[in-house]
Amino acid sequence: MSELSTMILDRIRDVPDYPTPGVLFKDITPLLADPVALVAVVDALAGQHQVDKIVGIEARGFILAAPVAYRSGAGFVPVRKKGKLPAATLEESYDLEYGSATLEVHRDAFAPGDRVLIVDDVLATGGTAKATVELVERAGAEIAGIAVLMELAFLKGRERLQGVDLRSLVIV
Ligand code: IMP
Repeated sequence: MSELSTMILDRIRDVPDYPTPGVLFKDITPLLADPVALVAVVDALAGQHQVDKIVGIEARGFILAAPVAYRSGAGFVPVRKKGKLPAATLEESYDLEYGSATLEVHRDAFAPGDRVLIVDDVLATGGTAKATVELVERAGAEIAGIAVLMELAFLKGRERLQGVDLRSLVIV
C-alpha cells in the first residue's frame, strides 16, 4: 500500500449507524484537520489534468474542490442541492435508496468546451457523480475526469461511470 493510501486510511474514521441505522459513515474530518495529509490529498486530487474548471459537489466536495482549483490554476464551480443557487440553473434528479435527490448548477457556469474535473470526498453508489456528469455536459462543458478521496467498491459506483476517467485515492 502506498504512503498516501496509509495516510488517508489512518485519518478516516468509521462512524456506525450514521446518518441512519445500518450505515457505516466514512468521516473525513480527522484527515481535513491534519495539515500534512490535507496538502498531500489536495495535490493528489489535482493530478495531471489540464482543466479550466473544478466542480465541487455539496457539501464535503466543496472543501476539497476549492483548494484543488487553486492548486490547478482553474476556476471553481459549485454543484448544489436544489434551491441553493441564486441565478438560473440546470437541474438533474437521481434515485436514492428511498426517494430522490436533485442537484443544480448555474446555467452560465462554464464557457463552451471548458474541460472540467469533478471532485468529491466519497464515491458510494455513484448516483451523485453520475448526475453531476450529466449536469456538466448539459451545461456545455467536457468531462476531463472525476477525482475522489475514497471509493466504496462494494457499492459498485464505478459501473455507473463507464467511459469517465475516475481516479480514487483509496478504494475500500
Ligand atoms: P453516492 O451518490 O451513493 O455515490 O453517494 C456519494 C455522495 O454521498 C457524496 O457526495 C458523498 O459526500 C456522500 N457520501 C456517501 N457515503 C458517504 C460516507 O460514508 N462518508 C461521507 N460521505 C458520503
